[in-house]
Amino acid sequence: MRADQSAHRVAALRGRLVDLELDGVVVTSPENIRYLSGFSGSLAYLVISRTDAEILGDSRYWLQMEAEAPGFTLIRSGPSHGLWALVAQRLKALKLGRVGFDSQHLTFDQHQRLSGALAAEHTLVAIAGLVEELRIVKAPEEVELLRSVAGIAGRAFDRVRGAIRPGLRERDVAFLLEQTFRELGADGPAFETIVAAGERGALPHGRASDRVLERGDMVVVDFGASAAGYHSDTTRTIVLGEPTTEQARVIEAVRQAQLESMALMKPGVTADTVDRRAREVLAGETHAFGHGLGHGIGLQVHERPFLSPTDHTPLRAGMVVTNEPGIYIPDWGGVRLEEMVLVTEAGPEVLTSASWEIGVG
Ligand code: ZN
Ligand code: ZN
Repeated sequence: MRADQSAHRVAALRGRLVDLELDGVVVTSPENIRYLSGFSGSLAYLVISRTDAEILGDSRYWLQMEAEAPGFTLIRSGPSHGLWALVAQRLKALKLGRVGFDSQHLTFDQHQRLSGALAAEHTLVAIAGLVEELRIVKAPEEVELLRSVAGIAGRAFDRVRGAIRPGLRERDVAFLLEQTFRELGADGPAFETIVAAGERGALPHGRASDRVLERGDMVVVDFGASAAGYHSDTTRTIVLGEPTTEQARVIEAVRQAQLESMALMKPGVTADTVDRRAREVLAGETHAFGHGLGHGIGLQVHERPFLSPTDHTPLRAGMVVTNEPGIYIPDWGGVRLEEMVLVTEAGPEVLTSASWEIGVG
């Protein structure tokens, strides 16, 4: 990551340290480390004070850290099991008294090791979601990465949908999609691709199985690609052949719930308000979705904010949030439609692009 982008994010974190009366923070989650420093490897810790920003790691990562995290001072550790002693040493050297830690990420064992190595003048303070709170609004360079990875997934789907036909298994469709993500430049799938045909569509998170696609099946395909640490998430529901009247009606109802709720995705509208609108549109349907309407997406597939009845976060320009209503009818099947939406001052902007045509094969 460019040093100035990293400096900008670290400055925002420092603002929060002042508010919370912390002298520094130890960052341990890989996504938060990547967000702040740019380092994409699997093991490192950050120690950030009001004036210093250090990245600690063992020799496997030194070159990578220098290349990816130019805004951070590299502190070289011995073998990885010595890392916690080194973190304690740095807290001591930087004279950090009150130190926040990622309480949602640091394991009990790691906490024991760190506190065991610290002298009495250091206090560890549990801070949940401090960096996640900064990640909730995407920087312009993050929006571009999300737009790009959503575009890859959309083009992959459009390429593969022509090959979907009776006789393929659900897992064949998932494989074709994931292979195409890579061909188009992604690092791989963002999550295990969901392909749920016929009655299996009633399982909101049905994994692609050996079930063979048949003419007349309605198929829920929920797919995402990942690149440069960022993820996409799109769902389409298609029908092999001509949709029946009931299939077309249910798909249309879900689409209506999506369009009406998406129109509300503007700055100032709270997450639960958007969720409620989709449920109101589907109020007459007996099997409307039991899951939340959507979720933030970025370095993680599911992150804040959540479009759900209990999340009252006001939407802000720069948030990227999915909108994915569904109807799941036991023994009949399911419909889900999902887009990634960028909240802008001018209103919602859809980042996902896969074809909307329902009939295939
Ligand atoms: Zn999805
Ligand atoms: Zn989703």
